[in-house]
Amino acid sequence: MREQIACLICKEKFSPNKYRKNQKVCSRPECQRERQIRNQAAWRQRNPGYFKVSGHDSSWAKLYRQRSRMWRKKHPDKVKKYKKAHKEEQKEYMREYMHRLRGGI
Ligand SMILES: [Zn+2]
Repeated sequence: MREQIACLICKEKFSPNKYRKNQKVCSRPECQRERQIRNQAAWRQRNPGYFKVSGHDSSWAKLYRQRSRMWRKKHPDKVKKYKKAHKEEQKEYMREYMHRLRGGI
C-alpha cells in the first residue's frame, strides 16, 4: 500500500504520484482545475505589476483587492495556512511549467 494523503481541495484520500511527492491535490479534474485557478490567483497576487491593468479592468481589480483584503482581515489564520500551502504549490507549478517549456508534454 502506498502512502495516502488527503486532497487539499476535496479532502478525499489519494496516493500522490511517486514522481511528484509533494502533490497535495488528487487527480480528479475538478480538483486539478481548482488547483490551477488557485495557483494563478496566488501568482497574480504576488506579481501585481505583471498584468498591466487597462482602464475597464481597474474597477474589477479594485473590487477584487478590496474583497480579498476584507477576507484576509476576517480570516488571519486561514491566510497563514493559505500562504504556506501556496509556497509549495507555486514551486510545483513552476516545475511543471519549466517541464512543459522544455517539451516535456
Ligand atoms: Zn481532490
